[in-house]
Amino acid sequence: MTLSIADPVIKPIYMDRSSGDPEYLRDVGITKRFLEVWTGDDEFRKLLETDPDGAVARWGLEANPHELRPMWDQEFAAKVGRDVHPSVSRYRGFIIEKLKCRVDMRNRTPRNPAFKNWRQRQVNRCAGELGFRVAAGVVHPTISLELSRGCSVGCWFCGISAPKLDDIWYYTPENQKFWCETLEVLSDFLGPEAHGFCYWATDPLDNPDYEKFCVDYNRIIGHFPQTTTAQPMKDPDRVRRLLELSHSDGHCDRFSILTKGLLKKVMAEFTPEELVYVELICQNQESTLVKARAGNALNHLDRFDKERVRKGVAEEFVNSGTIACVSGFLLQPIDKMVRLVSPCHADERWPKGYRILKEARFETPAELESLIQEWCSPEAMPLNVPNRRPLSLRRDLKVSVREGQDFAFHLANEMLDLEFLGPPVLAQNLPQGFFIPDDFALKLEREHQIPLEETLLVMERMYRYGVLEEEIPVIG
Ligand code: SF4
Repeated sequence: MTLSIADPVIKPIYMDRSSGDPEYLRDVGITKRFLEVWTGDDEFRKLLETDPDGAVARWGLEANPHELRPMWDQEFAAKVGRDVHPSVSRYRGFIIEKLKCRVDMRNRTPRNPAFKNWRQRQVNRCAGELGFRVAAGVVHPTISLELSRGCSVGCWFCGISAPKLDDIWYYTPENQKFWCETLEVLSDFLGPEAHGFCYWATDPLDNPDYEKFCVDYNRIIGHFPQTTTAQPMKDPDRVRRLLELSHSDGHCDRFSILTKGLLKKVMAEFTPEELVYVELICQNQESTLVKARAGNALNHLDRFDKERVRKGVAEEFVNSGTIACVSGFLLQPIDKMVRLVSPCHADERWPKGYRILKEARFETPAELESLIQEWCSPEAMPLNVPNRRPLSLRRDLKVSVREGQDFAFHLANEMLDLEFLGPPVLAQNLPQGFFIPDDFALKLEREHQIPLEETLLVMERMYRYGVLEEEIPVIG
């Protein structure tokens, strides 16, 4: 997309919610709705090719499919370039802003230096491990708090294998005190750049007191938490009130759309303007979206593959083996549990698509504070490459030295190729499995005359880029 938000027809309505007049918001909402139906309904996509007016009429859409043609006809888009209807430019501007916000979120810097560096290493690791397309959508929030135990929705593909709903954490005076003090601990530790949300393997709307917790969260952490729910029609008036509260702050909420019928109901209930800042994530079988191969989906691979084939998506394009996004603290106040987590590809060891690096119970917010301080001390989370601790090259990376390069080597997987400056002999001698950086540097100096400090400098760069496994997870 080459459009700039400096284009005069575009207003920055994502970052500055007061900048759009009603007509502008309505226009973006109508275009967005058209594209959501395009994503969620295969029959609509088909009919659009032969009878664009009939297709929009069938869904009762207000969009003009001819004006929006560059958005659904790639050949046409290539032909017209930037000579498009203002509705197209406005919507593209909206998306550009949204993508910029994602980058800003990922670039937030938590206050604690050791945690900040650790999180950055996870961001770098994920870019290589998940591939840039998937990694671009992961913003690495630093906190996630669950307000129930389990989820009432029970999706067959749930990427984090939510168990059945079996308890709810209500907003009692005692819980409110615990909640606010817990948030104070997190806010003090992470600083003003803390960001997160109040669900994980839960649906926020299962908790009737969800909004009350969110109001405290907003006051203490400094932003209203983003909401994702698969139950937008359970109580539309409640959802409307929540969106009003939530949209006083700059982010998008999300509805998970599980069936085409639900998509229709949502569109009948909410106007395009009401959903400008709500993404409809079409998980229904008629949609173009392919689910993540993680969590419950791993237990239903036949169904997963059938859906993938029906959607015409090649195996090699399914690389989103996670829906997890947090690099930080996952808290369950209901069980008084805290975990340090970070996204990864779902595999045998981490089938839910995230690593659990630490896990503990805490009885009081003061205990939580001590735990977090201990986990994120410079000894536990080194600021620089830990010379005397075991590290290993990530399993997904292969080392290679290219012809003609006498001071560089490559670490690559199917999705990434990183070039590091340094003596190729260093890469060729990298041990399989864990090694101690100091011992390795000494060996290279002794056997290959590579100065010790040169090896450690390259190790430092590799460490920062997240290509060295540093943690030995406690849970598995
Ligand atoms: S995907 Fe979301 S709504 Fe569905 S079971 Fe998992 S947590 Fe619940």
